Amino acid sequence: MYQITPKFRNEKRPRGGLLRGKEFIMKDAYSFDYSEEQAMVTYDNVVGAYTKIFQDLRVDYVKAAADSGEIGGSLSHEWHCFHETGEDTVFSCDSCKHVSNSEKTLSYPQEVTSVDKVSVRYFMTEDKQTLVCAYYPTKRTLEPKFVKQEIPEIDLKFTNQEEILAEFSNPDTLISKSIIRLMDSRLDSRSNFPDFPVPFVSRSLISMITDIPIVLAEDGEVCERCGDGTLSATRAIELGHTFYLGDKYSKPLGFKIDTPNNEGKLTRNDVMMGCYGIGVSRIIATIAEVYRDSIGLKWPSSIAPWQVTVVEAPGIDSDSSEVTEFYQMLNDSEIDYRRDGRASVSMGKKLKESNMVGIPLSIIV
Ligand SMILES: [Zn+2]
Repeated sequence: MYQITPKFRNEKRPRGGLLRGKEFIMKDAYSFDYSEEQAMVTYDNVVGAYTKIFQDLRVDYVKAAADSGEIGGSLSHEWHCFHETGEDTVFSCDSCKHVSNSEKTLSYPQEVTSVDKVSVRYFMTEDKQTLVCAYYPTKRTLEPKFVKQEIPEIDLKFTNQEEILAEFSNPDTLISKSIIRLMDSRLDSRSNFPDFPVPFVSRSLISMITDIPIVLAEDGEVCERCGDGTLSATRAIELGHTFYLGDKYSKPLGFKIDTPNNEGKLTRNDVMMGCYGIGVSRIIATIAEVYRDSIGLKWPSSIAPWQVTVVEAPGIDSDSSEVTEFYQMLNDSEIDYRRDGRASVSMGKKLKESNMVGIPLSIIV
């Protein structure tokens, strides 16, 4: 099931015309399957269709493993077009060839050099029994999701640092609590750690985990997936996003389907869902940005407003049988053309205008 409709977003930083606006046109599609296996087949089919779409658009696209974020689900890919004006960063590994966005890219430093400024961010587990102190180089960006990957019990919604420390330091319950000190891979024991904020904690309650990547990757670092390749960072514009949702929404909503099992008996299962978006108006803006040259726009034929401009030379007899035949041939071949027969405009100007608008071909008659 799909729709192509205008969407509205309270965009704080609209920019780039159609690239990031408060109103945009989006295609969103939803799939519903009776089993996880079947839902994965559907997901792969959509991935195949997206691949074909982006190939037809002739953009330098990449499918990057992505975080499911607010929408949720267990598997998700972003579809990006590489371009230096992009707001996203995509990392590719030169060894295992894995491609992912920055929220999904774990990395190790090429070598640990001494870090003089270390920052700390505090997290608390859902049961409020353990304080997690995540240490990372001050000049890098901590990614809380990476901390949660290492310690799944932490509550990412509880972010106020003072409240976390106050909750932890409550003297009535402090006795039973523990502390985990989590060190980013770029730090070693010589790093200059900030003072510990909670007084009177027994050393036996503190455990330490070292060499865990918890900051956003940077160009040139080592790929965590293969532990071998070097990551390169490329700026990219996100054009689409596909999610495998599984039962994330069907389960709480009680959306179920009866299917026969091997013995022919009906069993009731949660419907397995996927959702798939493409930023239609953003594609237009991206292609305009990527392909424009000193003359103007350059549309790939799959989305060009016309395939051909027919430029009529001065003095041509438009009613002659040759010209009539020529147009008949274009019509018969279902070629989408634009006829520029303006007598008062020079041929050079007509050609220039056609190039400026980005029509793939011009034919002079
Ligand atoms: Zn790799």
